[in-house]
Amino acid sequence: MNLILLGPPGAGKGTQAKRLQDRYGIAQISTGDMLRAEVAAGSPVGREAKAVMESGALVSDDIIIRMLGARIDRPDCAKGFILDGFPRTVPQAEALDRLLAEKRLKLDAVIELQVDDAALVERVAGRFTCKSCGAGYHDRFQPTRVPGVCDACGGREFVRRADDNRETVAARLDAYHRQTAPILPHYQAQGRFFSVDGMAEIDEVTRQIESVLDRLG
Ligand code: ADP
Ligand code: ADP
Ligand code: ZN
Repeated sequence: MNLILLGPPGAGKGTQAKRLQDRYGIAQISTGDMLRAEVAAGSPVGREAKAVMESGALVSDDIIIRMLGARIDRPDCAKGFILDGFPRTVPQAEALDRLLAEKRLKLDAVIELQVDDAALVERVAGRFTCKSCGAGYHDRFQPTRVPGVCDACGGREFVRRADDNRETVAARLDAYHRQTAPILPHYQAQGRFFSVDGMAEIDEVTRQIESVLDRLG
């Protein structure tokens, strides 16, 4: 099963993608996580992307498309993948169409998480992840069960992203509306496009997505 999760920063794409990965045995592909790994490694791609990401703008289509093309050839994608944070521009969506056609793959569903802009700033500002296993949390909406201890692995170190501050969120939201939202009609026209209420609680959003996927057959 091959899926795209679409939505603005903080909509819940990563949170839901991790759950779908576990339930359906398909790979989560987060271009943001891939870029952060490149930045941490100090690779040429990371050096080019760092400042762009910190400003809240989008990294160049060339870099992203190359990265994605190599990623979906990896063995963990054999049963399918969930694209989280890609495509983000019309050229990326067109490149994905070509890539899938070449590989004779199809998209089973494109799911949009709809969240009001006003809610996103708080979502992003309260976000943190476990340093050792990457499990995602939120200060208010999804705290760890035991304060300071990761539910999933017992880790005690957590990280916050450099770009998850109120100032940068405004630039990221602006990039979403100007550069990413225009790809929605592209997928609406292709069919198998579904909108889910991303304002609902995390478990409820998961139920809504699963009900869409279970009805696909
Ligand atoms: P995205 O990948 O779309 O940027 P995340 O999945 O990282 O978004 O979610 C952003 C933050 O909001 C995280 O801290 C997460 O715990 C929290 N969150 C995710 N979904 C919801 C929800 N439905 N309601 C409240 N908080 C949520
Ligand atoms: P979020 O879901 O919270 O917006 P991501 O982790 O998906 O965050 O992305 C973080 C940053 O990485 C983006 O603001 C952008 O600079 C860069 N990025 C990630 N994916 C892409 C992409 N497909 N195209 C261009 N830039 C990207
Ligand atoms: Zn952990």
